[in-house]
Amino acid sequence: MKVLVPVKRVVDYNVKVRVKSDNTGVDIANVKMSMNPFDEIAVEEAVRLKEKGLVTEVIAVSCGVAQCQETLRTAMAIGADRAILVETDAELQPLAVAKLLKALVDKEQPGLIILGKQAIDDDANQTGQMLAALADLPQATFANKVELSADKVSVTREVDGGLETLALTLPAVITTDLRLNEPRYVTLPNIMKAKKKQLDTVKPEDLGVDVAPRLKTLKVTEPAKRGAGIKVADVAALVEKLKNEAKVI
Ligand code: AMP
Repeated sequence: MKVLVPVKRVVDYNVKVRVKSDNTGVDIANVKMSMNPFDEIAVEEAVRLKEKGLVTEVIAVSCGVAQCQETLRTAMAIGADRAILVETDAELQPLAVAKLLKALVDKEQPGLIILGKQAIDDDANQTGQMLAALADLPQATFANKVELSADKVSVTREVDGGLETLALTLPAVITTDLRLNEPRYVTLPNIMKAKKKQLDTVKPEDLGVDVAPRLKTLKVTEPAKRGAGIKVADVAALVEKLKNEAKVI
């Protein structure tokens, strides 16, 4: 069984992002980019399934600019067998990515598609769900545990106030939550090995997908600055301020 793992190149989670002065978006020039952390968890899970002998091939796919190749090489250093870059300079919104992935699902016929639950740049949390709808596949989002057998997969999900376990027939779409696993460190020998693995490049047109944006970003702004705090003398003064100044009690 093949597993397809979509990985997004995003601003590294340690970078403090800055809004562009014209409020059209976030400045990503000369900023460290990395694989979306939830996608690292997705690659790790797919590789563990392969190591258990339940999966034969792990294919990483990334949609975006040529530099996404670096993200795909990282996925292959974790253990993905090969990679596909859907190369475009166009702005890609979740629906466009889901359509590109649907085209690849039709082509590659994976038994499982494991995505991150959300990309930490736009925080959309939409692509997996849209892909499941477009491909008419069962989906389990926010996976905390994945148990795969020959023709079905059991997924434990993190839901408000507890855990929910679902049984899905294959092929199926899964999105990863933070606690699914802890991705391994990428070692130098594996980085070297990853350089020799197969990386194919296609264009959205080759897949017959129109990636034109459907949503327009009107404005991006910094969050309001927090005012400085003060020290109060005692509990009575705190209660008085909460009541009369902050008006929260
Ligand atoms: P989002 O819906 O944008 O929050 O993204 C959810 C997941 O979809 C990510 O964690 C990735 O697994 C996948 N994804 C989103 N955008 C891309 C992209 N450009 N290339 C590959 N995978 C993507």
